[in-house]
Amino acid sequence: MVMVAVVGAGVNGLTCAVKIKEKYKDYDVVLISSEFTPNTTGDGSGGLWYPFICGETPDDLIRKWGNETYKYLHELYRLGEHGVSLLPVYSLYRTKEKFCKPIWSDIVYGYQVLDEQQLKDCSQLFSGEYGAGHTFLTFVLPAPRFLAYLQERFERANGKLLRAKITSLQDPVLEPFDVVVNCTGLGARWLVPDAEVVPVRGQITKVKAPWMNLVVIDEEGGNYIIPNSETCVLGGTHQSDYCTDVYAADTEFIMNGCKKMMPGFENAEVVKHWVGLRPVRYSIRLEPEERNGKLYIHNYGHGGSGFTLFWGCGDEVIKILQTHLDKNEQTQILSKL
Ligand SMILES: Cc1cc2nc3c(=O)[nH]c(=O)nc-3n(C[C@H](O)[C@H](O)[C@H](O)COP(=O)(O)OP(=O)(O)OC[C@H]3O[C@@H](n4cnc5c(N)ncnc54)[C@H](O)[C@@H]3O)c2cc1C
Repeated sequence: MVMVAVVGAGVNGLTCAVKIKEKYKDYDVVLISSEFTPNTTGDGSGGLWYPFICGETPDDLIRKWGNETYKYLHELYRLGEHGVSLLPVYSLYRTKEKFCKPIWSDIVYGYQVLDEQQLKDCSQLFSGEYGAGHTFLTFVLPAPRFLAYLQERFERANGKLLRAKITSLQDPVLEPFDVVVNCTGLGARWLVPDAEVVPVRGQITKVKAPWMNLVVIDEEGGNYIIPNSETCVLGGTHQSDYCTDVYAADTEFIMNGCKKMMPGFENAEVVKHWVGLRPVRYSIRLEPEERNGKLYIHNYGHGGSGFTLFWGCGDEVIKILQTHLDKNEQTQILSKL
């Protein structure tokens, strides 16, 4: 029997584990992770489909993985599943110089560069002085609920979970496995080891604000408002820092900035303050590596776009695995001749 270990139970590891176990039903697939939901990076994320901080990952890959994920989220939205909603986004800049039309503008529904009147309206609505920006429709999911759903789906398919911290790719825990899928996010920095993966610290505040039904991003100021079907995520920070403690100064920045945009947050019940470290790399690493007769498939470094690319990246992992299996089958046939 083929034995597959998926290391890491964030959105990427869970997706790969589900896809592999559902496609290769008789394989032994074990999801090994030091943390599971609700304690992964994605649990506090905005859950917004929006390519963000993915380094210099080639445009064609962002478009491909992003498009596949957008379509998958659309399917869930149409079926009313897992709390996925479709919301208008207003992404706003103070000056025209900072703004350029994104490479994914034709993937999303209703993409429009804001005209002068719309910018005036946004400046009035969100108490800013905005000189450029765009609007479009995108999908938002309540991240902890979605991660729990993926984990249940994997277990329902007879996938196994193992809580363990893997110390290196040669760790004895990985010995019995023929294939290891590495979805350890920032953990890859020490596991691989890959010094190119660095943290970009994000602090957010989750509040109850059921009246919010649009996403607002002040691209230069740093504040953002991302409502989902369960809470509303207010952000945020983007710091080169490993600390996961909540900083009072950041809470102040988030609450004051978001209240300036929408004064109603004064009355919003705070659910929690939270910090996560985005696993940022100069380019997402999604590729096979053969070492000591074992196939490793690396899938990490998704920065601020894990929930934007996960489904497409999972499909790519399946393609790599299938190519490897086909190659192995061919070698076995040849050796019998
Ligand atoms: C504040 C904030 C807001 C965000 N908002 C958005 C958003 O709106 N949209 C979006 O697309 N993205 C967003 N992101 C980014 C998104 O959360 C990440 O890209 C995504 O969570 C990365 O997922 P992952 O599965 O690759 O890694 P992670 O979620 O970090 O999971 C890594 C897993 O590997 C495990 N692990 C690590 N090392 C080891 C080891 N040695 N042994 C065993 N297990 C190990 C960990 O325990 C964890 O389970 C946001 C991030 C932050 C911090």
